[in-house]
Amino acid sequence: MIYIHVPFCKSFCTYCDFYSEIAEDNLYGQYTDQVCAEIRRRAGEMTDSPKTLYFGGGTPSLLPLSSLTRILLTLEECGHGGPYTEFTMEVNPEDIVERGLPYVQSLKALGVNRVSIGVQSFDDELLRWMNRRHNAQRAKEAFRLVREAGIGNISLDLIFGLSNLSDKVWEDTVDQALSLNPEHVSCYQLTVEGDNVLAHRLETGEYEEASEESCRHQYDILCRKMADAGFVHYEISNFAKPGFEAVHNSGYWSRKPYVGLGPAAHSFSGRGRSWNEANLTNYAHTEESLSVEDEKVETLMLALRTARGVDVDFLHGNCQDMVLFHLLKDGALVQEGRRIRIPEDHFFVCDEIIRELI
Ligand code: SF4
Repeated sequence: MIYIHVPFCKSFCTYCDFYSEIAEDNLYGQYTDQVCAEIRRRAGEMTDSPKTLYFGGGTPSLLPLSSLTRILLTLEECGHGGPYTEFTMEVNPEDIVERGLPYVQSLKALGVNRVSIGVQSFDDELLRWMNRRHNAQRAKEAFRLVREAGIGNISLDLIFGLSNLSDKVWEDTVDQALSLNPEHVSCYQLTVEGDNVLAHRLETGEYEEASEESCRHQYDILCRKMADAGFVHYEISNFAKPGFEAVHNSGYWSRKPYVGLGPAAHSFSGRGRSWNEANLTNYAHTEESLSVEDEKVETLMLALRTARGVDVDFLHGNCQDMVLFHLLKDGALVQEGRRIRIPEDHFFVCDEIIRELI
């Protein structure tokens, strides 16, 4: 599993807390040199189970095709080239429409077989408020182009839980997403984190966080509509048509080792975690090993967010039986064979349930 962070954006979204720099043509060459050097340096850490490649950001669709090709050739040279079981590229709808069908066809020719489109909303007013570059019509156009290029696995990203998102607009956004017939949908509840425009608005009283009740209601709307459309709710924020569950992200949740390349990218070796500094020109790599307790907490936090849950022996060995008994009795956990999981109607409060278990 290989993750490559592309830390460039054309503008910054109101709510964003990811590391990214304003895109400038003269930065791509230097960035690509550094990522290629890092591939050569860390090739020995890369594993092929599962064999996935994920370009995330930032905005990977800003990266020139020549840079993307150089990175792929370097992976090839180091024994980790394609074809990949899953090769995902996160894209911004506006880039897809601007660069057109030939660009997406080139991505496909380079081996991309899954495209994740950052739609966030189909409401133009809300998109402007988020400072997204695209509007609803451009998002639909981008989807059409990706499909026309022959990409058979398309994921859409949506956001809910904003105080200025009405239930009606949210229902409409989910309906419009479904009408495009994607294979996968990721929906994230907005959180105000870090030092961004939204955090500043919250501080000055220009923005008020949505109530927990309204977030929960929007999550319930989402779960119902996705189930009606035949999607599997396989992780708290992720829905897939059967057989289209994300292979790469599922690897994160089952704690498979992965190598993250590029500024601000994180890695997991199976025993410890490491991360690159958020610095475009010279990023240091820091490593940290995990204690047995850390591993236990991570396993619970990641696995219990998925519909697969966790092995019953793991829970019995690591959690208090009395707590487990009560959570099972109250329906906050369910047991099926050797697995224990949080049922969908308790996903929204999974953090509380996990906290009780820890
Ligand atoms: S949400 Fe994505 S596109 Fe927007 S600023 Fe953050 S990384 Fe860039």
